[in-house]
Amino acid sequence: MRILDEHRTGTIRVIGAGHSWNGGIETSGALVDLRHFRRIRIHPDRRRVSVGAGCRIAELLAHLARRGLTLPSIGLIARQTVAGAVATATHGSGRHSMSHYVESMRIACYGKGGEAEVRRVDSGQALRAARCSVGALGVVFEVTLKCVPQYYVRERCVWRSDLDAVLDNESAAPLQQFYLIPHTWAYLEHERSVAPDNHRSGIAMLYRVYWLIVIDVLLHLGIKLTASLLRSRRLVDVLYRRLLPACIFPKWRVTDRSDRQLLMRHDLFRHLEMEAFVPREKLRPALDFVSAVLRAADDADYDVSAGVQDRIRALDMRDSFERIRGSYSHHYPICVRRVRPDDTLISMASCHGMEERDWYAISLITFAEPRLPFQNVARLLATTMAPLFNARLHWGKWFPLNAGEVERSYPGIREFRAACEGFDPRGVFRNPFLEEAIFRTFDHHNS
Ligand SMILES: Cc1cc2nc3c(=O)[nH]c(=O)nc-3n(C[C@H](O)[C@H](O)[C@H](O)COP(=O)(O)OP(=O)(O)OC[C@H]3O[C@@H](n4cnc5c(N)ncnc54)[C@H](O)[C@@H]3O)c2cc1C
Repeated sequence: MRILDEHRTGTIRVIGAGHSWNGGIETSGALVDLRHFRRIRIHPDRRRVSVGAGCRIAELLAHLARRGLTLPSIGLIARQTVAGAVATATHGSGRHSMSHYVESMRIACYGKGGEAEVRRVDSGQALRAARCSVGALGVVFEVTLKCVPQYYVRERCVWRSDLDAVLDNESAAPLQQFYLIPHTWAYLEHERSVAPDNHRSGIAMLYRVYWLIVIDVLLHLGIKLTASLLRSRRLVDVLYRRLLPACIFPKWRVTDRSDRQLLMRHDLFRHLEMEAFVPREKLRPALDFVSAVLRAADDADYDVSAGVQDRIRALDMRDSFERIRGSYSHHYPICVRRVRPDDTLISMASCHGMEERDWYAISLITFAEPRLPFQNVARLLATTMAPLFNARLHWGKWFPLNAGEVERSYPGIREFRAACEGFDPRGVFRNPFLEEAIFRTFDHHNS
C-alpha cells in the first residue's frame, strides 16, 4: 500500500522471474519483486489452490505432487512465478492457457479517487481482464487456480509425412505438440495423451536421462555451436538431416508423471522467442506462409509460391519481403501447440466476442546473435500474419506489434482497456511497452 501511495503519480511495474522477452517489466519508477510471497494453501475441496504471486511454478507443482494433485496446464518450463505466468497466458499443448484456470485474484490497485486499495476479483468482466492482464490492473499478490488430481502422460516422438497426418492423430493424442523442422521441413510429432492409469513405465528414468542429455543439452549445444558460434548453415543442415533423425526413437512409448513429462529444460541456453497464435482454420495457410518466408530468408533464390506472393503484395509488403531475402537462416524447430479457447479478454486464445475455437501457437526461436536479422524476419511475419491470419502474439515473448495492429485481432481489447481504467485511473501500472502494445490507440480515440 505504501508503495502504491508513494508512486501514485509515477509508474509501478512488477517483476516475476524476469523470463519474458519484452519490456513488460521495465519501469522508470518502482519495480516490485514479490519473491517472498510464496504461501501455498490447498482448499478443502482439493480443487483449488491459493498461492502467493511470487511462488515459482516448480515449487507449486512439487507441493501439489506431494498431495496427489497438479495443475491442469503448464508451459515447457516451471521457473516462472505463478503471477508472471498467468499475467502473460502461459500455455502448454492441448489444454487452455494457465490464465483460463484462474478462479480469483487479490490485486493491489487504485480506487476511483486514486486511493490505494486491495481488491478481490472473482467474477465477471473484471476476472476475465485479470486472468491475463500483463500487469496492467495492478500488483497481483495472490492467485487462486484450479488444481486437478495428478495424472500421467504417455508419449512418443514420431515422424509424420505432412500436417494432415499430424492433425489426424490429434483426437488420439490430444496433448500433442509438433515441430516443423527447418532445412528438411519434415514434421515431428510429440504424441501425447493422458495415460489410463498412474503407472510409471519401467524405462521412464532412462527416458528422462536421455531427454535431458541428448535433447535438452547435446542437441541444443549443437544448435548453439553450429548456428550461433560457427554460423555454418551447412552444419545446421547436417544436424537436422543426419543427427536429429538418429536421436529420435519412435518405438519408445513412455508413461511418466505429467509434470516430469511435460517440462523441458529450455531455460538452459539463452535464446529469443516470438510466438504467434492463429485460429484452427488458419493453421495450414499460416504454416505454409511461415515456412515460405523462412525459406526465402534462408535462400535469396527460393521460389515463393504465387499464393504467398499475392498475400504479401495485397498488404503492400513486397519491399519489406525482398529486404529479408537471404538475410537469415532459421535454425530451430518451429514448435506448434494447440491451446483451447480461454475465458479471458486478451489472452492469446481468448474467444471473447467470437466463436469458440482452438488456437495454435507457432513458436519461432533463435540462438543466433546479433538478433537483428531474426528480428527483421519475425517483425515481417508478425505484421503480415496479424491481418492475414488474425495472428496474436504471446504477451510474454518478443512483441513487435503496436496497439493498432493488436486491436484488429482482439475483440476483447476495448473492454480490457475499460477494465484497466477501473483499477488504475491514472495509468500508474502502464509503461512504454504497455502503452505501445495496448493503450496508445485508446488514448488517441479519447483525446
Ligand atoms: C526458457 C523459457 C521457456 C518458456 N516456455 C513457455 C511455454 O512453454 N509456454 C508459454 O506460454 N510461455 C513460455 N515462456 C514464457 C514465460 O512463461 C512468460 O514470459 C512468463 O510471463 C514468465 O514469467 P515470469 O515469472 O518470469 O514473469 P516476468 O517475465 O517477470 O513478468 C511477466 C509479466 O507479468 C507481469 N507480472 C509478473 N508478476 C506480476 C504480479 N505479481 N502482478 C502483476 N503483474 C505481474 C510483469 O510485469 C510482466 O509484464 C517461456 C519463457 C522462457 C524464458
